[in-house]
Amino acid sequence: MAEQKRDYYEVLGVSKGASDDELKKAYRKLAKKYHPDMNPGDKAAEAKFKEVNEAYEVLSDKEKRAKYDQFGHAGVDPNFGAGGGFGGFNMGDIDLGDIFGSFFGGGFGGFSGGGQRANAPQKGESLRASLTLSFEEAAFGCEKEIELSRTEPCDDCRGSGCQPGTTAETCPDCRGAGVVRIQRGAGGFAFSTSVPCSRCQGTGRIIHSPCKTCGGVGNVRKKKRISVTIPAGIDDGQAVSLRGQGNAGKNGGPAGDLIVGVRIKPHPHFRREGTTVLYEHPVSFYQAAMGAELEIPTIDGKVKWTLPAGTQPDTTFRLRGKGIPELRGRGRGDQYVTVRVQVPTNLTNDQREALRAFGEAMGENIAEGSIKSFFEKHKKKK
Ligand SMILES: [Zn+2]
Ligand SMILES: [Zn+2]
Repeated sequence: MAEQKRDYYEVLGVSKGASDDELKKAYRKLAKKYHPDMNPGDKAAEAKFKEVNEAYEVLSDKEKRAKYDQFGHAGVDPNFGAGGGFGGFNMGDIDLGDIFGSFFGGGFGGFSGGGQRANAPQKGESLRASLTLSFEEAAFGCEKEIELSRTEPCDDCRGSGCQPGTTAETCPDCRGAGVVRIQRGAGGFAFSTSVPCSRCQGTGRIIHSPCKTCGGVGNVRKKKRISVTIPAGIDDGQAVSLRGQGNAGKNGGPAGDLIVGVRIKPHPHFRREGTTVLYEHPVSFYQAAMGAELEIPTIDGKVKWTLPAGTQPDTTFRLRGKGIPELRGRGRGDQYVTVRVQVPTNLTNDQREALRAFGEAMGENIAEGSIKSFFEKHKKKK
């Protein structure tokens, strides 16, 4: 049943150029009209109610509205119907309070997000960013800069939303509370309930001359360079949280946080497991047999290490305290070095002679000559 979806503007009965206020008004009217509690058992009203909510959810969101204008229904993911019932619309939108407040009896305290008074201080949204660090930067910590766009209190009106030299009027309907108590009658009994004040949109204030810079919102979007201190020992996939560096709060609430996720570039020689550094060092057969003074790279630079005579291939030894510093700790991990013995290839005649002499001295009987003559015999047979 691929039903043709109606145009969202048509659903709300507004023009394409409708302002936010016009949208809000149209939505409120229709949402009340078609609310299931006002139309018990009326499937058509319920469908309308969903349609109205879906349309408003998209058109009230600047980004979604722009996408919808450009691409139509294909441009927006309505995200509806997943939970059934009233799932899908934005409970965080305070304007819903005056609709639901009356139907569910208990004011608007019953919903997640809906319980907040519009003029109560609200923390701003947190922002996310990511940084890619080198192996060493993650090990020892570093300072990095991140450029981001966030909302900040408007400088011109200091966040008040009022044109400089003017002030907001305390809303006479709610006396600044942002909510009003109203009487509702339902099924023969009346009750009183709080709903957001419609005159001031729940803000408690009426701005007569909005600030030109921020349009009365009190916040403006700004590009910012933020310096981030990365602690020593941070690992791939971990994050640093910078309190108060996110978007501006509302009604005097604190700003949100900035959460910076960290990725670590792979190192050409080192691998990391927690605070342990793993490393493989090539040594010659001669060095393994005779012992050698090695220079081993570590994240602190090269260190000297005496390879004992007779070291077997793939032996691992430990450089204590040469690993990664513990995150928020004092200690450091270790570096493990695995010895990879290189078997010589492309020997010169002199080297072959020397090795044959060595082999004989070891009592071995597989002289190179015998292998050669084996191949030569086979050649001659052909
Ligand atoms: Zn302003
Ligand atoms: Zn008011």
